[in-house]
Amino acid sequence: MSEARIIDGQAFAEGLRGRIADEVVALKRDHSLQPGLAVVLVGEDPASQIYVHNKGVQTLEVGMHSVTIRMPAETTQAELLKVVHDLNADPAIHGILVQFPVPAHIDPLAIQLAIDPDKDVDGLSPLSAGRLATGQTGLRPCTPVGCMMLLEDAVGSLRGMNAVVIGRSNLVGKPIAQLLLQADCTVTIAHSRTRDLPAVARAADILVAAVGQAEMVRGDWIKPGAAVIDVGMNRILSRKPKARAAGKMVVVGDVNFEEAKGVAGCITPVPRGVGPMTIACLLNNTLTAAKRLAGA
Ligand code: NDP
Repeated sequence: MSEARIIDGQAFAEGLRGRIADEVVALKRDHSLQPGLAVVLVGEDPASQIYVHNKGVQTLEVGMHSVTIRMPAETTQAELLKVVHDLNADPAIHGILVQFPVPAHIDPLAIQLAIDPDKDVDGLSPLSAGRLATGQTGLRPCTPVGCMMLLEDAVGSLRGMNAVVIGRSNLVGKPIAQLLLQADCTVTIAHSRTRDLPAVARAADILVAAVGQAEMVRGDWIKPGAAVIDVGMNRILSRKPKARAAGKMVVVGDVNFEEAKGVAGCITPVPRGVGPMTIACLLNNTLTAAKRLAGA
């Protein structure tokens, strides 16, 4: 059997950012509208610092207005809510993202609920989740939308296909399942209590792994020719003896890529698969929000 087609998420994300940049130019020219994204970071979590920095850089690269608000770890919930309310009222801001996790003394739900749902470009507030679940217009979560874009580009119409999503988090698993359902798939959501997970996975024409367990999905879990989307990002010690001895860490997915690529029809690698799509889809959501809010 021939090897799976590798879905190049990095290239797709670059193309998407290019299309967004073109639309931003047109919006400025035809509507005097510059989409604006505000990212709020509370505390000094190192991973969050990197994400927030990258979001700011990419927002500017596509020609959008970018605001990054850094607040100390001692920030109170009331202070953070005030910032969110001010951003809700700011006409230059069309997308608001509060970087999670927030410090333990702040209730994340209270923050999500405070964000104007029409500016919730993360798509993660309960209101946005409700809009997704009930099929109403709204902003969809970035990583799940990125998965759908890659899938539809690789496979075409998903209608009638059996889709299995491993993982049921509000961040990834559940919204991907909702989006697959909207694309007319027959959807199974598997999780840590699922019986005989390999057999469930083998029924999938589309297999999405969003688990957080390095290389858990083996080649013999995959139906020949299936489309495999690997959302996982797991840091493990390199398997290469020299690198391993030097303590080098590498990022791998939830799917055993080497095994899977001999069975699947197409597959996202890790890195350069789903990962780069997340920020690109955040920018796409900001563009969508700006157009809707301005009626452009
Ligand atoms: P969570 O930890 O919130 O959820 C993991 C899910 O996997 C849970 O539903 C859990 O089941 C299920 N699970 C855990 N272990 C098993 C197992 N052995 N068998 C079957 N199911 C299992 O993780 P997230 O959804 O937030 O993230 C999942 C992965 O995606 C992570 O690797 C994360 O780093 C990555 N990620 C990547 C992004 C990107 O941009 N590429 C963005 C966001 C996440 P149960 O509910 O029963 O506990």
